[in-house]
Amino acid sequence: MPKKKQKWFCEGTVPGQRLGTMQHCFAIQKLLYRGKTKYQSVLIFDNPVFKRVLVLEGIVQLSQADESIYHEMLVHPTMFSHKSPERVLIIGGGDGGTLREVLRHPVKEAVMVDIDKKVVDLCVRYLPFMKGKKSYGDRRTKLVIGDGLEFVKKYKDYFDVVIIDGNDEVGAATELYGQAFYRDVKRALKADGMVAAQIGSLSLDYAALVKRAHTRFQKLFLHTQTFKLTMPSYHCGEYAFVAASKKTDFQKVSWPSVKRRFGTIARKHAFRYYSPEIHASSMVLPEMWKAGR
Ligand code: SAM
Repeated sequence: MPKKKQKWFCEGTVPGQRLGTMQHCFAIQKLLYRGKTKYQSVLIFDNPVFKRVLVLEGIVQLSQADESIYHEMLVHPTMFSHKSPERVLIIGGGDGGTLREVLRHPVKEAVMVDIDKKVVDLCVRYLPFMKGKKSYGDRRTKLVIGDGLEFVKKYKDYFDVVIIDGNDEVGAATELYGQAFYRDVKRALKADGMVAAQIGSLSLDYAALVKRAHTRFQKLFLHTQTFKLTMPSYHCGEYAFVAASKKTDFQKVSWPSVKRRFGTIARKHAFRYYSPEIHASSMVLPEMWKAGR
């Protein structure tokens, strides 16, 4: 019997310095789904190292093995930096991971706006570990299928925290990284509101993506902060989430209060990656990436 040829998925379209210049490849052990929605191409497969992997528009969005690093770090440093986040807006986040983490907090309302119903449905079906079914059934959740760019314009002084969890900055998603959108987000936030956004690789795209996002937020908000994390399933090492706040200095959060709130939540359901210590250490940046702080 001839040996079956190994199938591979190679990612080579990530933004920044890496666009079209290198490949990051994963062996496809089992193909679960390959198709196109109205908005994007979708690929879901199993890999022996990363387990189940979700790819949108040729870019890895998450793997079962390390998605908790991404989602816990996108959500908790900002949610815990805010004194009492009750109303939260997630823009994008169709895989459900950001909503799952937001709902761990005692929020009153979690609105998630994703443009692509098919992605939301596919993730509920093929990525049960993202707990979409449970999160969308939560009485605090309001799932909106629509364009986050337009949705956010309808609000003024309403949300405590906005989390931007959109596609990478290529093609149609570039507006989610623009100053005009950030201005609309600022308007939708209360006076002590905060925003967190996934940005890109610190290691390779610091100047092109991370520093630029900082500069855009700095023009609008009093405080900005980079949170550093490592994502094994993503290209090139260390990643950055950038947060901005109208009032609170992220460096001066009340750690006793963060630890108390963390303890209450962790007793119900253990965190895999986030802790107040990881939160504090993620704000320690190497000299070469400090400018955007
Ligand atoms: N973890 C991710 C990553 O690696 O970048 C992001 C995940 S999430 C799956 C990205 C989501 O953003 C997709 O479900 C996509 O449909 C959604 N999206 C893209 N543009 C959007 C827009 N303008 N409004 C709302 N959702 C949008």
